[in-house]
Amino acid sequence: MSKKIAIIGSGFSSLSAACYLAKQGNDVTIYEKNSTIGGRARQLKKEGFTFDIGPTWYWMPDVFERFFADFNKKPSDYYELIKLSPAYQVYFGHLDFVTIADNLPEIVTTFESIEKGSGKQLEQFMAEAKSNYDIAIKDLVYRPGESPLELITLETAKKVNQFFSNIKKDVRKRFKNMKLVQILEFPVLFLGAKPSDTPSFYNFMNFADFGLGTWHPKNGMYSVILAMETLARELGVKIETNANVEKIDVTNGNATGLIVNNKIVSSDVVLSGADYHHSETLLDKNYRQYSENYWETKTFAPSSLLFYVGFDKKIENVEHHSLFFDVDFDIHAEAIYDNPKWPEEPLFYASFPSKTDENCAPEGKEAGIFLIPLAPGLEDTKELRELYFEKIITRLERLTDQKVKNNIIFKESFCVNDFIKDYNSYKGNAYGMANTLLQTAFLRPKLKSKKVKNLYFTGQLTVPGPGVPPSLISGKLVADLIKKYQ
Ligand SMILES: Cc1cc2nc3c(=O)[nH]c(=O)nc-3n(C[C@H](O)[C@H](O)[C@H](O)COP(=O)(O)OP(=O)(O)OC[C@H]3O[C@@H](n4cnc5c(N)ncnc54)[C@H](O)[C@@H]3O)c2cc1C
Repeated sequence: MSKKIAIIGSGFSSLSAACYLAKQGNDVTIYEKNSTIGGRARQLKKEGFTFDIGPTWYWMPDVFERFFADFNKKPSDYYELIKLSPAYQVYFGHLDFVTIADNLPEIVTTFESIEKGSGKQLEQFMAEAKSNYDIAIKDLVYRPGESPLELITLETAKKVNQFFSNIKKDVRKRFKNMKLVQILEFPVLFLGAKPSDTPSFYNFMNFADFGLGTWHPKNGMYSVILAMETLARELGVKIETNANVEKIDVTNGNATGLIVNNKIVSSDVVLSGADYHHSETLLDKNYRQYSENYWETKTFAPSSLLFYVGFDKKIENVEHHSLFFDVDFDIHAEAIYDNPKWPEEPLFYASFPSKTDENCAPEGKEAGIFLIPLAPGLEDTKELRELYFEKIITRLERLTDQKVKNNIIFKESFCVNDFIKDYNSYKGNAYGMANTLLQTAFLRPKLKSKKVKNLYFTGQLTVPGPGVPPSLISGKLVADLIKKYQ
């Protein structure tokens, strides 16, 4: 029977859930506090430049295909995808970089040229990573985390030791050259934890990287948000922006609706795609499942300091995606996870989408996005942002051998305080809760409330975890649970 379903937030997970729930025949309305949809994946347009505010790496194209196929559609019905070639570049010193091609055979050749014998090692490593990808991304992540038994399959039983070793050990066993080590340890950073805290099984991220490639949706990642919005509206979903949810109303253990901008909105089911911690603060205390101490003791994925910069010229010696790994990652990681503080010398990531996509900057100009991962909850001031911009732009100039500071038309920044203000993010985290062994699947905050019968959660703090593809999957999982229980 058709239910009236109120969804909090319009990030990837909420949009995904909205589509599935509408397809089931429900009457679905999204309430988004901001003036535009997309959550962490919103877009900034300024003076002819276009920037993705959040995600920029389109990985796992198969997950997007599977999402649209569930509605008899294809990504190409809504947006154009460009495979990046090369995929990206990693800097280790002055004009000292490794370029990652868009196919495995070329990457194998690159590895072999850096460390003798590493090509063969990489082929073996990738075969294992592919097998894990097939198990994890085609099957396991589509399980709702209701029970530990979901993880026990014939395939996982054969790989049980991979849950008790970690990516760092695994990679360093096979590769000695530190450049190759850093390149192979990079993909799991998307899962939000250090390689030493990420089980070996998660090397499926390396298959996502080298095996499936890095893609760019024309006009940026926001094209995918617009695609999902179009699909949602085609299915009858209503979307209200500037709609701040102030409370989830509960009577006798049943959610009866929301208070939105001071007005009561009634519903049969409530689903929150806002950050889980914030969503629970919308409930009276007795209906919250997780204490402040619970959240305090979890490993959160990093926050970030981001800059969106318009340059009045093209930037040389960089690719669409460029990683600057010229400083010690272990020291930076310690400042994120072990002893939270601003890092002395940060690693950083730069994206120049206008290298591939002429729509991202006016002709002859370049759009630059810069990201420094940071511990959540750090002090965030204008002065600190400036200090760190100066640090990384000076490094960019030195490493890529050019002057760019005088070519900046404008720069905007986004950091901890903005994550809190714009998204009600716990401690200003950027990517939600990390996927460590003890924060995987049934050990993550649950999709279905244990205390309120018809209240559900979705998004990067619940199952399966951080990232755009997992957020799409999270929306599907929660829609399936709502169908099962309501
Ligand atoms: C800087 C950055 C870079 C990233 N890079 C990548 C990448 O390259 N590739 C990748 O795959 N992933 C990346 N990610 C992760 C990815 O963007 C996220 O995992 C995903 O977008 C999370 O979606 P979500 O639906 O869980 O949450 P969100 O996008 O945060 O959506 C939650 C929504 O709820 C709204 N909301 C909150 N409180 C309320 C309220 N009280 N009332 C109404 N609405 C409310 C918020 O405004 C927001 O719109 C990145 C994230 C960030 C921040």
